Amino acid sequence: MKIPKIQLHWQILLGLLLGLLYGLFLTNYVYLIEWMGEVFLRALRMIIIPLILTSIITGITQIGSGKSLGKLGLKTLVYYVSTSMVAILTGLFLVNMIQPGKGADLGFTQKVEGLDIESGSFGRTLIEIIPTNIFEAFSDGKMLSVIFFALIFGFFITQTNDKHKTLLNDFFQAAFEVIMKITLLIIRFTPFGVFGIIAGNIARILNEQGSGMSALLELGSSLGLYMITVFLGLVIHAFFTLPVIQRFIGKVNPYKHFQAVSTPLITAFSTSSALATLPLTLEAVEHRDGVSNKISSFTLPLGATINMDGTALYECVAAMFIAQAYGLELGFAQQVIIVITALIASIGAAAVPMAGLFMIAIILSAIGLPLEGIGLIVAVDRILDMFRTATNVWSDTTGAVVIARSEGEQLKKGLRV
Ligand code: ASP
Repeated sequence: MKIPKIQLHWQILLGLLLGLLYGLFLTNYVYLIEWMGEVFLRALRMIIIPLILTSIITGITQIGSGKSLGKLGLKTLVYYVSTSMVAILTGLFLVNMIQPGKGADLGFTQKVEGLDIESGSFGRTLIEIIPTNIFEAFSDGKMLSVIFFALIFGFFITQTNDKHKTLLNDFFQAAFEVIMKITLLIIRFTPFGVFGIIAGNIARILNEQGSGMSALLELGSSLGLYMITVFLGLVIHAFFTLPVIQRFIGKVNPYKHFQAVSTPLITAFSTSSALATLPLTLEAVEHRDGVSNKISSFTLPLGATINMDGTALYECVAAMFIAQAYGLELGFAQQVIIVITALIASIGAAAVPMAGLFMIAIILSAIGLPLEGIGLIVAVDRILDMFRTATNVWSDTTGAVVIARSEGEQLKKGLRV
């Protein structure tokens, strides 16, 4: 008898569901299976730096001239900034309508460690993109510096003589192919990885004091309302705004595209890290959407690092919620400051779990609110992080297909409308 083959995304969903049940009912035994999640995450992290390096370099050498690189770069940035902006405005509208923080009880739920770290100025952050030691950037995982170096390295390959150009192109192409083969192997283990991660997370949430669970149960409380506001905003952005962009600007069937990238989406949801998901995102967008390596390897690593629509929306709602809880009536000018700083915070946030939570400090300092306000929302952050990370990756993939279409690419059959 032939055993029917279950498609990978169903296997991953099954892993997620079983992880949920295991975490709920066998909470004290998660240590038996948590290693699966750790092995999976370690393997993903292992290939991120070589993947970013080889994919960007091969992408840039294919783009060729400085002029087309500039055009593509500009298009990509315009997409990133405008979708994040729409996400923020969606959040702003909802938080003003629902007013979750009005009359909130200011009993802080948890102390947030590491909040006293001064967030550097935006100018400083920009300067520090240039690494003083590229190997330090690799080993510390400074993604923007790695991307910066890969961009200029790739660009100057195109400026060398034919002999060297061919040699380096072949070398990086070959290295990229090897890394993608390793990626494919890791992807096969995603169902187990997701199972381990979800079970571990559920157990941790259940064991934590003042956990998000109680907020989930008390949906009428201000924290519950705050969660609903963020959640609603993410749903609107993910199920309305981005599909409209896919359909009308990218001329792509949103449902088909969703199917193509379902594996990275579930992985983003489970790992809460757009960066850890990047290998899977690249594989899906290239092989299942049919976006060229030239476009995907340029837009996706950059997108994972700086394009975070879900985080941007969340930053805005969270800062407004805290302001409301402090009884502050924010006028138009202050709300504009929140919008701008939320955009900066989302660009600056690292694509790792809970990075967005700490970036709220930038917004709170800009409007003169105490940073302790973050203590109000920390309890429910882990849950929201899963949803905003999935939205971040959904927007990255949308950017890749939209830009590919604008460059005249045909994508896979059935994806075009
Ligand atoms: N976890 C998010 C991501 O990796 C960042 C955040 O905390 O908002 O995309």
